[in-house]
Amino acid sequence: MTSAGRFAPSPSGELHVGNLRTAILAWLFARSTGRRFLMRVEDLDRARAGAEAQQLRDLAAIGVSWDGGVVRQTDRGPLYAETIARLEAAGRTYPCFCTRREIQEAPSAPHAPQGAYPGTCRNLSAAERNAKGADRPAAIRLRADVTEATVHDVLHGSYAGVVDDFVLRRNDGVTAYNLAVVVDDAAQGIDQVVRGDDLLPSTPRQAYLSGLLNMPVPEYAHVPLVVNADGARLAKRDGAVTLTDLAQAGRPAEEVRDTLLASLGLPSGPLGHALAAFRPAMLPREPWVWPGA
Ligand code: GLU
Repeated sequence: MTSAGRFAPSPSGELHVGNLRTAILAWLFARSTGRRFLMRVEDLDRARAGAEAQQLRDLAAIGVSWDGGVVRQTDRGPLYAETIARLEAAGRTYPCFCTRREIQEAPSAPHAPQGAYPGTCRNLSAAERNAKGADRPAAIRLRADVTEATVHDVLHGSYAGVVDDFVLRRNDGVTAYNLAVVVDDAAQGIDQVVRGDDLLPSTPRQAYLSGLLNMPVPEYAHVPLVVNADGARLAKRDGAVTLTDLAQAGRPAEEVRDTLLASLGLPSGPLGHALAAFRPAMLPREPWVWPGA
């Protein structure tokens, strides 16, 4: 399989300029290294009717093109189930009955890093499982044998972060993001993952899981987010931040694309023009403040 990069939006609403800037970067990273570029819709959770079509239209409008068809996670349930079954058979999973609140209130295990699952359900007896399972459905957690892993990131260098017994399947039956993303990236031959740096803390968990499944760990580049004037991550309430809003404010998609390229120190025009000037080492490392419409 040839190597590939990807963009993997969650169709929960319209993409904003922060998402579009990340998509441009993912495209540039892939195309500048001769990779294919794939589009995967992460619609397992919080999908909103019509959002996918609008997102794909907006990506096309700023010149982000992709190879082949669009892959949707809701079509891939059997692949996720098979992978979880493999981990189960290898003794690498256990059922967890904890509510969010119970996890927050549980004393953390000795030496457990902050934010790690405290291990409440890790060593339950069969009788305890039956008792707890009588009145609530179980999530499936990974039985991790490390508490930390280090990944290499093109922009962040070496990054060490928490690996805990994270959820593989939620108690409502939905496959968890960390499992789906690892399985899909490997199945699609994706060997370069470019995404917002809000996902960097999840990356050691994903890389660890890739290793357990004998799947290759992709190259990672976590790019800075776009923020509002207060330094907070850009959101819909920050005004005109989607292509629809901006078009209404008299700013067509090409102009928004050029503004985003300029924020990266790249020449305006079709994305192909920016390719020759694109150097990951020269990218801004700070969040970019959206100047507004
Ligand atoms: N679907 C995730 C998001 O929109 C991105 C996941 C990823 O790139 O790994 O935040």
